[in-house]
Amino acid sequence: MHNLYDLTPNDLTQLLTEWEFATAHARPLWRHLYRDLATELATIAELPPKLLARLQAEATLGHLTAAKSVQSQDGRTNKFLLNLRDGEQIETVQMEYGEGPQTRTTACLSSQVGCALGCVFCATGQMGFTRNLTSGEIVAQALYVARRCREQGQRLSNLVLMGMGEPLLNYEAVMTALEILHNSAGLAIGAKQITISTVGVIPGIVRLADEGRKYSLAVSLHAGNQPERLAMIPAAHPWPVAELLAACRYYTEKLQQKIFFEWTLIAGKNDSTDQARELAELLQGIPCQVNLIPLNPTVGFDGQAGDTAAIAAFRNILAERQIPSSVRQRRGIEIAAGCGQLAVT
Ligand code: SAH
Ligand code: SF4
Repeated sequence: MHNLYDLTPNDLTQLLTEWEFATAHARPLWRHLYRDLATELATIAELPPKLLARLQAEATLGHLTAAKSVQSQDGRTNKFLLNLRDGEQIETVQMEYGEGPQTRTTACLSSQVGCALGCVFCATGQMGFTRNLTSGEIVAQALYVARRCREQGQRLSNLVLMGMGEPLLNYEAVMTALEILHNSAGLAIGAKQITISTVGVIPGIVRLADEGRKYSLAVSLHAGNQPERLAMIPAAHPWPVAELLAACRYYTEKLQQKIFFEWTLIAGKNDSTDQARELAELLQGIPCQVNLIPLNPTVGFDGQAGDTAAIAAFRNILAERQIPSSVRQRRGIEIAAGCGQLAVT
């Protein structure tokens, strides 16, 4: 059985060739999947009945259904617990920003069921790792949100791989999914509007650079030296801070684009002015922006978000050294839809 959401335009053309149908049928089929956002392989007027019959017999649309959905008080963040075909579940988040015609919608996608990295402050890390998602399962999450956007008269404009899992440890499936979602005849989400967030998997960062994949890249740093980083990301042993930064430099030079560094701020752990200085030192000469994420509460971690004065002092030090920074808007905390709060229990 082929899950059509696993297939890139090339794969689809190849399948048609294998089945001895004209490759011209790929276009209406693609439109049906990614413009009409179909959930059934119902009659597509443009396809010959024979092809449709074969598709119905040997292919599926791996669309996902929600076991549960919750909405934040302001109505602008929605979290969905989606059922995978093998009984596993994942969470996907829809976030709306801006007003009126400027409204943008971002889907926060998962790349794995659970995560093997075990970052101490992250609910996904606390649940452990079950399996990688297929590219079709990643695509299906975006389509789920795109359908909801359509109902609301909006367009899905941005994707962030910041849900459950480490995208660069599921590299092939994530890149295939992004190729599909970026395709201009489908959802057509711009490369810059797609952000991959990684815990710092060095080989993955180098590979993105070598393959010329010009998506936005966010690297979760959280600490400016290896001992402090390991205390937060126990599985970061293979990726020493100095080597990670060297890979980031390579990436920015090769792709000629900046990197976003994410820093989950925890009071008394990594929010001091000394740590801000250490970070600034480390980032000298790298085109970048620092995204500070005040810690969101999770059951398994007993830490506090840095207070506003500490955040301001931290940002001042970065600013003095010409490093732009922003503080991530807190979204959907009361429904546990914020960064690091996604888990299936
Ligand atoms: N595995 C990837 C992407 C998913 S996590 C990564 O680690 O980058 C997305 C972001 O949420 C990361 O920057 C992560 O450090 C952050 N995060 C995890 N737990 C958090 C928490 N409790 N509060 C705030 N941010 C958190
Ligand atoms: Fe995994 Fe990212 Fe959570 Fe760390 S922060 S456990 S890498 S999902």
